[in-house]
Amino acid sequence: MTTPILSVQNAVKRYGDVHALDHVSQDIADGEFLTLLGPSGSGKTTLLSAIAGFITLDEGRIALRDRDITRQPPEHRDFGMVFQGYALFPTMTVRDNVAFPLKVRKRPAAEIRARVEECLDLVQMGKYADRMPSQLSGGQQQRVALARALSFNPQVLLLDEPLSALDKKLRADLQWELKALHDRLGVTFIYVTHDQEEALSMSDRIVILKDGRIQQDGKPGELYNRPANAFVADFLGKSNFIDVTVTSTEGDLLHCEAKGTSFPAIATENGPRSGQARVALRPERLRLAAPGEEFLPARVRQVSYLGERCQVIVTHDTLGDLLVSCPTWKSGLTPAPDLPVSIGWDRDACVLLSPE
Ligand code: ADP
Ligand code: MG
Repeated sequence: MTTPILSVQNAVKRYGDVHALDHVSQDIADGEFLTLLGPSGSGKTTLLSAIAGFITLDEGRIALRDRDITRQPPEHRDFGMVFQGYALFPTMTVRDNVAFPLKVRKRPAAEIRARVEECLDLVQMGKYADRMPSQLSGGQQQRVALARALSFNPQVLLLDEPLSALDKKLRADLQWELKALHDRLGVTFIYVTHDQEEALSMSDRIVILKDGRIQQDGKPGELYNRPANAFVADFLGKSNFIDVTVTSTEGDLLHCEAKGTSFPAIATENGPRSGQARVALRPERLRLAAPGEEFLPARVRQVSYLGERCQVIVTHDTLGDLLVSCPTWKSGLTPAPDLPVSIGWDRDACVLLSPE
């Protein structure tokens, strides 16, 4: 990476016994769309607040392009911010809301007028400039909040669950728009969410947090296909887990054994290569077929129809329950409870993780 726009080094923040941030380090590239993803309480807001300057770290350092800003107050950092809920000023019109950061910065009136118009157009809210926030829908209010955050051309935009109060369909639309806006403006986005699909669909890179610690960071596809541990494998999408013993190795192909069943798995970069291990297997990598067609005999236990996909829980005599996710358009087999089936997977479908 060339000089990162932001660098967080060994950030520690404690609240009593709680380690909200436990030695977090992360470099953020200029223009990147970085998402902080984790369950509630994992430290996402704390990390974003430390970057914004709202809280002071107990230990560690934050640099903006090589300049130490650890002790700098938020107003000097000049980052744009959009937070959960709608933090618009309720007694100001849309126009005045967007103009506010520019007035604070004492920009000339003509510039403010032009810039407000430009930013409202950017989020398709030009028509609503004279309305009050209470006269807008939730999605429209968040658009205005976005226009306000971008009005002063910040180099970094911090977003803390900005879409979480919106319904699913609107959220999906705004995800596309946010991503397009990011690609158009080239501003660095640091985006907080607990929604894994949102993170996967929007981000250049995702940092996964749990208990104030980074579990893994990488491109969406890397994290999804090569999770570093069981937490990541389960939090980012669904996984089946099978405890195995690695019995032999042929290059990157490892032979595994689990309760009398043998199957191959591919070694991962930092995963184990011998002894006890745990295999993570994505439900969509499992194939469901008629008995005898695949290598593992099983029986359907439960079926859940989800529209484009069908989720089937199958039971194997010794391995127990496995979740299979198959496209509903695939014909040939109509899964129903008690139906005998067989299941299989490609040899690169299993990711070998350390045992728990
Ligand atoms: P997230 O945004 O991922 O849900 P937070 O960063 O808000 O998580 O919180 C991380 C942890 O720090 C949680 O256990 C939370 O209860 C605790 N925490 C955050 N802010 C405070 C505070 N002001 N006082 C006490 N504990 C806090
Ligand atoms: Mg939060």
